[in-house]
Amino acid sequence: MNKCEHCSSNDVKVHFDRDAESMLLCLNCFNKLMADKLEVDLEPLIESFSLKDYQGMNRTFFVERQILPQGIYLEAVENVKFGYKFGVQGELHSNQTDMLNQLMEKTRNGLAEQQVKTEFFPNGQKYNTLIHDQFTGLIEYDEGSNIAPLIIIDGKPFTWEEVGKMMMTYEGFQIKVKVYDMTD
Ligand SMILES: [Zn+2]
Repeated sequence: MNKCEHCSSNDVKVHFDRDAESMLLCLNCFNKLMADKLEVDLEPLIESFSLKDYQGMNRTFFVERQILPQGIYLEAVENVKFGYKFGVQGELHSNQTDMLNQLMEKTRNGLAEQQVKTEFFPNGQKYNTLIHDQFTGLIEYDEGSNIAPLIIIDGKPFTWEEVGKMMMTYEGFQIKVKVYDMTD
């Protein structure tokens, strides 16, 4: 990964364009720049936190903040690939500590609920079922497929085909699909 052009220590997260100039920045430098420009204080926030999931397993999340002209975004990103991810959005002058608490609450609620149950046929073959006839997931890029995305449910990746198989028990029923921002 490229290093930040400003502090040269952190990995690049943002491609920043200003006055026909373009820079590759880490989130810290980007936030400092934006906070300065938008006259927002960068409240000190914890960098990570851990919470237990529905199985009592500890999950660790990094807190990622982004200061943008349209508002502040806070994300809790699990420290594993294709893990849980939660986000909240606030106004530019929202209290960032309150936002962090809100994010942790959202994460706690998200972790507490199991949506998919994995069971086994007598022959040992694995199958997944939806516990409450519905799921909320995150759409992620599937490196192993160029025709369909991965869906992250319960902090685990499911291929589009696996999601499709879960739908097979619902033949004859209707389905409603709605795509919305992670912070909603
Ligand atoms: Zn930097």
